Amino acid sequence: MRRQIHQMMQFNGKRVLVTGGSRGIGAAIARAFAGQGARVAINYRSGQAAAKACVGELTGKGHVTLQADVSDPGQAASLVDDAIAALGGLDIVVNNAGVFLSHPITSTKTDDWNMAWRQTIDTNLIGPAAVCHRAAQHMMRSRGGRIVNVSSRGAFRGEPDGPAYGASKAGLNAMSQSLAVALAPHNIFVGVVAPGFVETDMAAELLEGAEGDAIRAQSPLGRVARPEEVAHAVLFLASDGAEFSTGTIIDVNGASYLRS
Ligand code: NAP
Repeated sequence: MRRQIHQMMQFNGKRVLVTGGSRGIGAAIARAFAGQGARVAINYRSGQAAAKACVGELTGKGHVTLQADVSDPGQAASLVDDAIAALGGLDIVVNNAGVFLSHPITSTKTDDWNMAWRQTIDTNLIGPAAVCHRAAQHMMRSRGGRIVNVSSRGAFRGEPDGPAYGASKAGLNAMSQSLAVALAPHNIFVGVVAPGFVETDMAAELLEGAEGDAIRAQSPLGRVARPEEVAHAVLFLASDGAEFSTGTIIDVNGASYLRS
Protein backbone atom coordinates (compact mmCIF):
# COMPACT_ATOMS: atom_id res chain seq x y z
CA MET A 1 0.00 0.00 0.00
CA ARG A 2 2.77 2.40 0.97
CA ARG A 3 4.60 1.52 -2.25
CA GLN A 4 1.42 2.15 -4.24
CA ILE A 5 1.02 5.61 -2.75
CA HIS A 6 4.70 6.35 -3.44
CA GLN A 7 4.23 5.37 -7.09
CA MET A 8 1.06 7.41 -7.43
CA MET A 9 2.72 10.54 -6.10
CA GLN A 10 6.14 10.03 -7.54
CA PHE A 11 6.26 13.54 -9.02
CA ASN A 12 5.28 15.18 -5.75
CA GLY A 13 6.72 18.69 -5.63
CA LYS A 14 8.37 18.40 -9.07
CA ARG A 15 8.16 21.47 -11.26
CA VAL A 16 7.26 20.75 -14.87
CA LEU A 17 7.05 22.89 -18.02
CA VAL A 18 4.92 21.48 -20.86
CA THR A 19 5.08 23.40 -24.14
CA GLY A 20 1.86 23.35 -26.14
CA GLY A 21 -0.06 22.17 -23.11
CA SER A 22 -3.36 23.85 -23.82
CA ARG A 23 -4.93 20.88 -25.61
CA GLY A 24 -4.30 17.46 -27.12
CA ILE A 25 -1.26 15.49 -26.00
CA GLY A 26 0.23 18.40 -24.03
CA ALA A 27 -2.92 18.78 -21.94
CA ALA A 28 -2.90 15.03 -21.21
CA ILE A 29 0.76 15.25 -20.15
CA ALA A 30 -0.05 18.18 -17.85
CA ARG A 31 -2.96 16.24 -16.29
CA ALA A 32 -0.82 13.16 -15.78
CA PHE A 33 1.99 15.07 -14.02
CA ALA A 34 -0.44 17.05 -11.87
CA GLY A 35 -2.23 13.81 -10.98
CA GLN A 36 1.04 12.56 -9.49
CA GLY A 37 1.70 15.63 -7.39
CA ALA A 38 3.70 17.85 -9.76
CA ARG A 39 3.19 21.58 -10.31
CA VAL A 40 2.84 22.35 -13.98
CA ALA A 41 3.42 25.38 -16.20
CA ILE A 42 1.25 25.02 -19.28
CA ASN A 43 2.55 26.92 -22.29
CA TYR A 44 0.29 27.93 -25.17
CA ARG A 45 0.70 30.07 -28.27
CA SER A 46 -2.76 31.51 -28.94
CA GLY A 47 -5.26 29.28 -27.12
CA GLN A 48 -5.45 31.24 -23.89
CA ALA A 49 -8.99 30.11 -23.02
CA ALA A 50 -8.14 26.44 -23.57
CA ALA A 51 -4.96 26.78 -21.51
CA LYS A 52 -6.83 28.46 -18.64
CA ALA A 53 -9.53 25.78 -18.76
CA CYS A 54 -6.90 23.03 -18.74
CA VAL A 55 -4.98 24.50 -15.81
CA GLY A 56 -8.24 24.99 -13.89
CA GLU A 57 -8.99 21.26 -14.13
CA LEU A 58 -5.59 20.04 -12.94
CA THR A 59 -5.28 18.16 -9.66
CA GLY A 60 -3.49 20.09 -6.93
CA LYS A 61 -2.40 23.71 -6.67
CA GLY A 62 0.27 26.05 -7.99
CA HIS A 63 -0.16 25.42 -11.71
CA VAL A 64 0.22 28.31 -14.15
CA THR A 65 -0.29 29.17 -17.81
CA LEU A 66 2.46 30.89 -19.82
CA GLN A 67 2.00 32.39 -23.26
CA ALA A 68 4.92 32.09 -25.69
CA ASP A 69 5.45 31.26 -29.34
CA VAL A 70 8.23 28.68 -29.17
CA SER A 71 8.99 29.08 -32.88
CA ASP A 72 10.78 32.28 -31.82
CA PRO A 73 13.97 31.21 -29.98
CA GLY A 74 13.93 34.38 -27.87
CA GLN A 75 10.40 33.65 -26.65
CA ALA A 76 11.30 29.99 -26.11
CA ALA A 77 14.21 30.94 -23.83
CA SER A 78 12.10 33.51 -21.96
CA LEU A 79 9.42 30.86 -21.48
CA VAL A 80 11.89 28.74 -19.54
CA ASP A 81 12.86 31.73 -17.39
CA ASP A 82 9.18 32.50 -16.77
CA ALA A 83 8.48 28.89 -15.77
CA ILE A 84 11.42 28.93 -13.34
CA ALA A 85 10.13 32.19 -11.83
CA ALA A 86 6.52 30.99 -11.60
CA LEU A 87 7.27 27.52 -10.21
CA GLY A 88 10.32 28.45 -8.12
CA GLY A 89 12.57 26.17 -10.19
CA LEU A 90 12.34 23.59 -12.93
CA ASP A 91 12.88 19.83 -12.72
CA ILE A 92 11.26 18.54 -15.92
CA VAL A 93 10.73 20.02 -19.38
CA VAL A 94 8.50 18.47 -22.01
CA ASN A 95 8.90 19.85 -25.53
CA ASN A 96 5.49 18.92 -26.87
CA ALA A 97 4.38 21.94 -28.96
CA GLY A 98 4.37 21.12 -32.65
CA VAL A 99 2.72 21.83 -35.97
CA PHE A 100 1.92 19.73 -39.03
CA LEU A 101 1.51 21.67 -42.28
CA SER A 102 0.50 19.83 -45.44
CA HIS A 103 2.87 20.62 -48.34
CA PRO A 104 3.11 17.69 -50.80
CA ILE A 105 6.02 18.27 -53.16
CA THR A 106 3.91 17.38 -56.19
CA SER A 107 1.37 20.18 -55.73
CA THR A 108 2.85 22.91 -53.50
CA LYS A 109 3.95 26.25 -54.95
CA THR A 110 7.46 27.48 -54.18
CA ASP A 111 6.52 30.21 -51.68
CA ASP A 112 4.15 27.89 -49.79
CA TRP A 113 6.77 25.14 -49.80
CA ASN A 114 9.42 27.44 -48.33
CA MET A 115 6.99 28.85 -45.75
CA ALA A 116 5.92 25.36 -44.62
CA TRP A 117 9.53 24.31 -44.14
CA ARG A 118 10.41 27.47 -42.22
CA GLN A 119 7.37 27.33 -39.89
CA THR A 120 7.72 23.62 -39.26
CA ILE A 121 11.44 23.62 -38.53
CA ASP A 122 11.14 26.77 -36.39
CA THR A 123 8.35 25.29 -34.25
CA ASN A 124 9.29 21.61 -34.10
CA LEU A 125 13.09 21.83 -33.94
CA ILE A 126 14.56 25.32 -33.38
CA GLY A 127 12.03 26.03 -30.59
CA PRO A 128 12.75 22.84 -28.64
CA ALA A 129 16.50 23.44 -29.15
CA ALA A 130 16.16 26.90 -27.56
CA VAL A 131 14.07 25.49 -24.70
CA CYS A 132 16.62 22.71 -24.11
CA HIS A 133 19.51 25.17 -24.12
CA ARG A 134 17.99 27.48 -21.51
CA ALA A 135 16.59 24.62 -19.42
CA ALA A 136 19.94 22.80 -19.42
CA GLN A 137 21.69 25.92 -18.11
CA HIS A 138 19.28 26.00 -15.18
CA MET A 139 19.40 22.24 -14.61
CA MET A 140 23.20 22.24 -14.59
CA ARG A 141 23.14 24.89 -11.87
CA SER A 142 20.57 22.93 -9.89
CA ARG A 143 22.46 19.67 -10.49
CA GLY A 144 19.93 17.69 -12.46
CA GLY A 145 16.75 17.47 -14.46
CA ARG A 146 14.76 15.69 -17.14
CA ILE A 147 13.95 16.66 -20.71
CA VAL A 148 11.38 14.71 -22.73
CA ASN A 149 10.77 15.62 -26.36
CA VAL A 150 7.65 14.61 -28.29
CA SER A 151 8.63 13.42 -31.75
CA SER A 152 6.67 11.30 -34.24
CA ARG A 153 6.53 8.02 -36.09
CA GLY A 154 6.92 10.16 -39.20
CA ALA A 155 10.60 10.66 -38.41
CA PHE A 156 11.16 6.99 -39.28
CA ARG A 157 8.33 6.15 -41.66
CA GLY A 158 8.39 9.33 -43.73
CA GLU A 159 5.71 11.99 -44.20
CA PRO A 160 4.90 12.21 -47.93
CA ASP A 161 2.42 15.06 -47.45
CA GLY A 162 4.51 16.90 -44.86
CA PRO A 163 8.18 16.24 -45.52
CA ALA A 164 9.27 19.15 -43.32
CA TYR A 165 7.39 17.55 -40.42
CA GLY A 166 9.22 14.22 -40.85
CA ALA A 167 12.54 16.07 -41.14
CA SER A 168 11.83 18.22 -38.09
CA LYS A 169 11.06 15.19 -35.95
CA ALA A 170 14.09 13.26 -37.24
CA GLY A 171 16.13 16.32 -36.27
CA LEU A 172 14.47 16.38 -32.85
CA ASN A 173 15.41 12.73 -32.34
CA ALA A 174 19.03 13.34 -33.32
CA MET A 175 19.26 16.45 -31.15
CA SER A 176 17.78 14.62 -28.17
CA GLN A 177 20.25 11.77 -28.46
CA SER A 178 23.19 14.18 -28.76
CA LEU A 179 21.98 16.07 -25.69
CA ALA A 180 21.49 12.82 -23.78
CA VAL A 181 25.22 12.14 -24.16
CA ALA A 182 26.30 15.72 -23.47
CA LEU A 183 24.11 16.20 -20.39
CA ALA A 184 24.30 12.82 -18.63
CA PRO A 185 27.45 13.85 -16.71
CA HIS A 186 25.35 16.73 -15.34
CA ASN A 187 22.62 14.38 -14.09
CA ILE A 188 20.27 15.59 -16.83
CA PHE A 189 18.49 12.85 -18.74
CA VAL A 190 16.89 13.25 -22.14
CA GLY A 191 14.28 11.01 -23.74
CA VAL A 192 11.94 11.00 -26.70
CA VAL A 193 8.41 9.72 -27.24
CA ALA A 194 7.45 9.06 -30.87
CA PRO A 195 3.70 8.59 -31.31
CA GLY A 196 1.88 7.39 -34.38
CA PHE A 197 -1.54 8.91 -35.00
CA VAL A 198 -3.19 10.26 -31.84
CA GLU A 199 -6.79 11.38 -31.25
CA THR A 200 -6.21 15.16 -31.17
CA ASP A 201 -7.04 18.28 -33.19
CA MET A 202 -3.85 17.80 -35.21
CA ALA A 203 -5.07 14.50 -36.66
CA ALA A 204 -8.84 15.08 -36.43
CA GLU A 205 -9.44 15.97 -40.08
CA LEU A 206 -7.68 12.84 -41.32
CA LEU A 207 -9.19 10.55 -38.70
CA GLU A 208 -12.72 11.79 -39.36
CA GLY A 209 -12.27 11.72 -43.15
CA ALA A 210 -12.26 9.03 -45.80
CA GLU A 211 -8.83 7.77 -44.73
CA GLY A 212 -9.83 7.33 -41.07
CA ASP A 213 -10.55 3.61 -41.16
CA ALA A 214 -7.37 2.83 -43.10
CA ILE A 215 -5.34 4.82 -40.57
CA ARG A 216 -6.91 2.94 -37.65
CA ALA A 217 -6.22 -0.34 -39.45
CA GLN A 218 -2.49 0.46 -39.54
CA SER A 219 -2.35 -0.85 -35.98
CA PRO A 220 -3.29 -4.44 -35.11
CA LEU A 221 -5.25 -2.85 -32.26
CA GLY A 222 -7.52 -1.27 -34.89
CA ARG A 223 -7.32 2.21 -33.44
CA VAL A 224 -5.04 5.19 -32.96
CA ALA A 225 -3.46 6.30 -29.67
CA ARG A 226 -5.20 8.21 -26.93
CA PRO A 227 -3.34 11.28 -25.63
CA GLU A 228 -3.10 9.62 -22.19
CA GLU A 229 -1.09 6.76 -23.71
CA VAL A 230 1.52 9.21 -24.96
CA ALA A 231 1.55 10.93 -21.55
CA HIS A 232 2.20 7.56 -19.89
CA ALA A 233 5.44 7.13 -21.85
CA VAL A 234 6.49 10.73 -21.15
CA LEU A 235 6.04 10.20 -17.40
CA PHE A 236 8.08 7.01 -17.55
CA LEU A 237 11.04 8.82 -19.10
CA ALA A 238 10.77 11.61 -16.51
CA SER A 239 10.47 9.22 -13.57
CA ASP A 240 13.01 8.21 -10.95
CA GLY A 241 14.56 4.96 -12.10
CA ALA A 242 14.50 5.80 -15.81
CA GLU A 243 17.95 7.44 -15.76
CA PHE A 244 19.63 4.61 -17.68
CA SER A 245 17.00 4.95 -20.43
CA THR A 246 18.48 8.32 -21.38
CA GLY A 247 18.79 8.71 -25.14
CA THR A 248 15.87 6.34 -25.71
CA ILE A 249 13.11 6.88 -28.24
CA ILE A 250 9.87 5.20 -27.13
CA ASP A 251 7.43 4.34 -29.92
CA VAL A 252 3.77 4.78 -29.03
CA ASN A 253 2.25 3.65 -32.31
CA GLY A 254 0.31 0.46 -31.54
CA ALA A 255 2.79 -1.61 -33.60
CA SER A 256 1.67 0.26 -36.72
CA TYR A 257 5.32 0.76 -37.66
CA LEU A 258 8.09 -1.44 -36.34
CA ARG A 259 11.55 -0.03 -36.86
CA SER A 260 14.68 -2.11 -36.45
P1 NAP B 1 -2.53 19.81 -31.29
O1 NAP B 1 -3.75 19.16 -30.80
O2 NAP B 1 -2.53 20.49 -32.62
O3 NAP B 1 -2.00 20.85 -30.18
C1 NAP B 1 -0.82 21.56 -30.45
C2 NAP B 1 -0.39 22.30 -29.20
O4 NAP B 1 0.85 22.94 -29.49
C3 NAP B 1 -1.37 23.39 -28.79
O5 NAP B 1 -1.35 23.50 -27.38
C4 NAP B 1 -0.75 24.64 -29.44
O6 NAP B 1 -1.06 25.83 -28.74
C5 NAP B 1 0.72 24.35 -29.28
N1 NAP B 1 1.56 25.06 -30.22
C6 NAP B 1 1.61 24.95 -31.56
N2 NAP B 1 2.53 25.80 -32.06
C7 NAP B 1 3.06 26.45 -30.99
C8 NAP B 1 4.04 27.45 -30.84
N3 NAP B 1 4.67 27.97 -31.90
N4 NAP B 1 4.34 27.89 -29.60
C9 NAP B 1 3.71 27.38 -28.51
N5 NAP B 1 2.76 26.43 -28.58
C10 NAP B 1 2.44 25.99 -29.82
O7 NAP B 1 -1.31 18.79 -31.37
P2 NAP B 1 -1.10 17.37 -30.66
O8 NAP B 1 -1.65 16.34 -31.55
O9 NAP B 1 -1.49 17.42 -29.24
O10 NAP B 1 0.50 17.25 -30.82
C11 NAP B 1 1.40 17.42 -29.74
C12 NAP B 1 2.74 16.90 -30.19
O11 NAP B 1 2.62 15.54 -30.57
C13 NAP B 1 3.32 17.64 -31.42
O12 NAP B 1 4.71 17.81 -31.25
C14 NAP B 1 3.03 16.67 -32.55
O13 NAP B 1 3.93 16.83 -33.61
C15 NAP B 1 3.17 15.35 -31.86
N6 NAP B 1 2.48 14.25 -32.54
C16 NAP B 1 1.13 14.29 -32.74
C17 NAP B 1 0.52 13.24 -33.42
C18 NAP B 1 -0.98 13.19 -33.69
O14 NAP B 1 -1.43 12.34 -34.44
N7 NAP B 1 -1.78 14.04 -33.08
C19 NAP B 1 1.29 12.17 -33.89
C20 NAP B 1 2.66 12.17 -33.64
C21 NAP B 1 3.24 13.21 -32.98
P3 NAP B 1 -2.25 26.83 -29.24
O15 NAP B 1 -3.52 26.06 -29.10
O16 NAP B 1 -2.16 28.00 -28.33
O17 NAP B 1 -1.92 27.13 -30.68
